[in-house]
Amino acid sequence: MQFHKSIALIAHDKRKQELSDWVEHNRELLEQHTLYATGTTGKKLADDHGLEIHRFRSGPLGGDQQVGAKICEGEIDFLIFFWDPLEAQPHDVDVKALLRLAVVYNIPVACNRSTADFMVTSQLMNGDYERMISEYEKLFKA
Ligand code: PGA
Repeated sequence: MQFHKSIALIAHDKRKQELSDWVEHNRELLEQHTLYATGTTGKKLADDHGLEIHRFRSGPLGGDQQVGAKICEGEIDFLIFFWDPLEAQPHDVDVKALLRLAVVYNIPVACNRSTADFMVTSQLMNGDYERMISEYEKLFKA
């Protein structure tokens, strides 16, 4: 993982403002990276902050799966996913699948603001980082 990172940003509806506030706080840093988001999250972040964000479909319409596919292809380095812990989503299975792939591919994931803060202030943000996925290598080669 190089200094320049591809970061996926997702928030469920009741947590979109929280994510937007976090993005505002970290705007200078985030601008140096490539940003991806699910549809509605991406629209809000672009509207709120004028950031350039590659947008996928809305989460319930397949956006989470699109982010998962990008992770499989090695095109996402980080996932910031403020999912709603108090409400079931129509696409809960997609949410679970996305979180599962993030673990399979050993992608750093932040599901709340403090984790996101720790992540982006890590020294590892500024250099190379080799993600280990060796446990699954045999499966990948199959
Ligand atoms: P949204 O999707 O950004 O389109 O609201 C997020 C999600 O529900 O996973």
